[in-house]
Formats: sequence, C-alpha cells, structure tokens
Amino acid sequence: MAASSLHVEVPEDILDTIYAGAKQLYPRESFLLLRGKKSKNVIKVTDLVLAPFAVHGNGFAHFNPYMFSGDFTLVGTVHSHPSGNISPSHVDMNYFFGRILMIVGYPFEGRTCVAAYDSNADKLRVEVTDAIGFDSTEHSDEL
Ligand SMILES: [Zn+2]
Repeated sequence: MAASSLHVEVPEDILDTIYAGAKQLYPRESFLLLRGKKSKNVIKVTDLVLAPFAVHGNGFAHFNPYMFSGDFTLVGTVHSHPSGNISPSHVDMNYFFGRILMIVGYPFEGRTCVAAYDSNADKLRVEVTDAIGFDSTEHSDEL
C-alpha cells in the first residue's frame, strides 16, 4: 500500500518539548497542534502551536478545528496518553484533524513513547531527527 510508506519526522527538541508538556500536565492529557511540511512521503514537524480553547481533562482534549480551517501549515495534532498506551482511541479518530495524529505515552521518555497515525488509524513510522534549535519559551508559560 502506498499510504504505508508515509512517515513522520520530528526533531528531537520538539519531541522533548512535547514530552515536557505532557509530564507537566500528567495525569491529565496535554494537547498541541503540529505545524510542519509535507513533501512526498514525509511529514516534517517544524513547530508546535497551542490550541486555543483546548480543554484539558480526563478524557480527550478538545479544541475547535474551525479556528484553523484555513491554515495549511498545520499537519495534525499531538496529545498525551497518561495510561502509557499509545494506540488511538475511537474518540481520537473521531476528532482527527489534519494529516497525522500523534500520541505520546507515559513515561514520556526516549523515542519509543511516541506514535503517529494517519486518518485510517494506520500506524506511521516516526523518525526522530536532530534538534533544529526550536524555541519553546513562548509555549512554556501556558503548558
Ligand atoms: Zn487519545
């Protein structure tokens, strides 16, 4: 299948920032939007965006996708699973936004606590690449 050759690249420092936010909100879920670029079969994550009106609770973190309907730099979303299970739930798939759904799972360490899925819930390969000097300061206040 052609679709399965799609993979996701996430720079190490962005992954670290996602993990840091997830740890901070644990045992609640964290939720962020992923900004990036798609070229051929690669989706490169280049930035994180806080979702306005995101609600952090015990269930899924919600936001209003209509806020972003014209923003084509958004490639998807990432949220945490405090349970450590990095499979998407039915609710996750119902709220699928963009091209990829990324999930990070407790304990939010290393490179195996992250997974990405396409809109068919097919698991995509995630490659952690070198840090890009991502500046997380503007995000840290609100996480
Ligand atoms: Zn979920």
